[in-house]
Amino acid sequence: MKTIGLLGGMSWESTLGYYRAINEGIKKALGGFHSAKIVMFSVDFEPIEKLQHEGDWEGMAAILSEAARSIQAAGADFLLICTNTMHRVAPEIEAAIRIPLLHIVDTTAEVIVNEGIQSVGLLGTAFTMEQEFFKGRLINNYGLHVLVPNEDDRKIVHDVIFQELCLGKIEPDSRAEYLRIIDALSAQGAEAVILGCTEIGMLVNQTDTDVRLLDTAAIHAEKAVEYALYKGE
Ligand code: GLU
Repeated sequence: MKTIGLLGGMSWESTLGYYRAINEGIKKALGGFHSAKIVMFSVDFEPIEKLQHEGDWEGMAAILSEAARSIQAAGADFLLICTNTMHRVAPEIEAAIRIPLLHIVDTTAEVIVNEGIQSVGLLGTAFTMEQEFFKGRLINNYGLHVLVPNEDDRKIVHDVIFQELCLGKIEPDSRAEYLRIIDALSAQGAEAVILGCTEIGMLVNQTDTDVRLLDTAAIHAEKAVEYALYKGE
């Protein structure tokens, strides 16, 4: 079994979910007392969140590249960045290490392509919904059609992430708003909606709606288990 590197803490609320899901996946596959071999670097999110909202991506790339090098030095065989937003600096992080990066867009796209889905809705932070690093990879590498909510709804989705979910707050009113926005994307032709922020699965899940949901954190963790057990053995 390979050792999984987790670059987490963005926020720690969602990194907890990765730790649990990966260990459960290994236990399910191998049984007994088996558990995942994990090296985790969990950053302090406060300065990262500030840099995000100041737009200092270079500063964040430097912090996360250093953390990724520590994960590599501690013996990880491959790396996961446990947040969609920080994949904005994935190229810089990849360039700083020798171990492979399991990119969250690629793991999600694998499921989308396998299910024959061509048009997807995308929920996430404003950075993820509005910048090119996430949408562009889905469009250019996988030929998908990507829909995002309108400006007002993007603001709601973004604010709920930073004012509630990253602080561990789960509000029923926000769940209702998310479900309304998911329905709107579906009505516009999205065959599935990507939960493109690793905390959204804390708020909504597949039992809340008939619209197919693709939880990037859950998929990322599942693919990490597969990669740890079966890739390149
Ligand atoms: N975890 C979130 C994501 O997946 C948001 C927190 C962050 O900005 O890193 O995008």
